[in-house]
Amino acid sequence: MLSGTERRPLPRSLYADTARSAPAEAVLNGDLTTEVVIVGGGFTGLSTALHLAEAGVSAVVLEANEPGWGASGRNGGQVNPGLKWTPDQLEAAFGSELGGRMVRMGGEAPDLVFDLIARHGIACEPVRGGTIRAAGGRKSEAGIRDFQAQWQSRGVDITLLDRAGMESEVGTDAYALGCIDRRGGNLNPLGYARGLAEAALKAGVQIFSSTRALKLTRSNGRWQVVTPRGTVTATRVVLATNGYSDDLWPGLRRSIVPVYSSIAATAQLSPNLAASIMPNRPSLYEMSATYAYYRIDAHNRLLMGGRSVMRDSGNFSDYRTLIAYAEKLFPAIEGIEWTHCWNGQVAITPDSLPHVHEPADGLHIGLGYNGRGVAMATAIGRMLARRAAGGSAEELDLPVTRISPMFGHFAWPLAVKARLVWETFRERAGV
Ligand SMILES: Cc1cc2nc3c(=O)[nH]c(=O)nc-3n(C[C@H](O)[C@H](O)[C@H](O)COP(=O)(O)OP(=O)(O)OC[C@H]3O[C@@H](n4cnc5c(N)ncnc54)[C@H](O)[C@@H]3O)c2cc1C
Repeated sequence: MLSGTERRPLPRSLYADTARSAPAEAVLNGDLTTEVVIVGGGFTGLSTALHLAEAGVSAVVLEANEPGWGASGRNGGQVNPGLKWTPDQLEAAFGSELGGRMVRMGGEAPDLVFDLIARHGIACEPVRGGTIRAAGGRKSEAGIRDFQAQWQSRGVDITLLDRAGMESEVGTDAYALGCIDRRGGNLNPLGYARGLAEAALKAGVQIFSSTRALKLTRSNGRWQVVTPRGTVTATRVVLATNGYSDDLWPGLRRSIVPVYSSIAATAQLSPNLAASIMPNRPSLYEMSATYAYYRIDAHNRLLMGGRSVMRDSGNFSDYRTLIAYAEKLFPAIEGIEWTHCWNGQVAITPDSLPHVHEPADGLHIGLGYNGRGVAMATAIGRMLARRAAGGSAEELDLPVTRISPMFGHFAWPLAVKARLVWETFRERAGV
């Protein structure tokens, strides 16, 4: 049995079998001093580290397992623009100045991802085929029209697709309405995480795998992070642990709901079959209670994502509903082998927005991407780097908020299931 400090292996996934190899690893043995110590080696932590090093600030990353082990190496690979709130909602709630910056950051986040990939030559199968939002009912159809109009009025070209348009873009007549946002794209996320790690290492960052941060203390204006075999002393700390947050900082784990999201992948489809599904290679997510999202990858495999069990699972029996849904959308794939299934934890926040906290001097936290972290965690990592390098809190593209632990957090798996049942009922009843 693993103790709390032992490394957990990368779960079997399509990406574990196909991504570029991991960069050489080191384990922290001894005591170190640096300017910024970052806990967590996913997109948030690696982007923070890379941008700090590029700004000439020394940085150390502590990762309990290996870079990309968390959601960053297991996700749908969809590089989606924007936050969950619409531009109008953001500007109404936060004012035109901060709200406008939030809108801009969300909209430009995919550019940052694809620029980093190009600048650092990251081998991660990047494709800029756009993001399709598909309506799952009449309510979400109205939402999609409104969403498209709001971006259009800000000069962003998002195209509405009627049933025929959706059929030609997606290859199924299941959707009455959708829209395509050409800022989006997709990639192999574990390859991207490992590429970011390698770029950070080359820029001078020290990354330690199998090195869990166990304790965080502050004395004489400096932070110290204790790990099983050494310590890191730094002026500032960044916590980038998202859906895998533990009790390192009081209340943080209970400020998000670590909901599981699951993916099943087929074997390579024949060229003809692959050309009949999403021929222009966008990725798609549904605005519906199923939370389904899918794409065809660079090797013609269909990756179908959505909700399944609320625990770690690599058993196909837990993915039957997802696979049946894929076959309902695309009957021609029936009989095709499904080769991989895996899941991971997404950090959901009560207000559906990412959260930035600064609960003590020199302590910066970014988390809660609500299933949109490929682009957003990269962008927020860059933002945290600017702040940790001495930028002011007023310049941040998100409000700095207090950590709000949820009451009754221990019951989250039950609450998630209940909500799913309720949302499915409402959608079917059309209310
Ligand atoms: C199945 C799935 C599908 C998804 N699909 C998409 C998608 O298609 N598009 C999209 O935009 N987003 C998607 N997401 C969400 C996205 O993957 C995340 O938002 C993003 O990866 C978060 O990155 P992160 O670096 O903040 O966290 P993570 O990648 O989860 O990294 C956190 C890291 O912190 C480490 N850690 C935790 N505690 C400690 C400690 N005490 N000491 C040291 N290390 C510690 C963990 O080991 C982990 O590696 C999906 C997520 C999942 C699970």
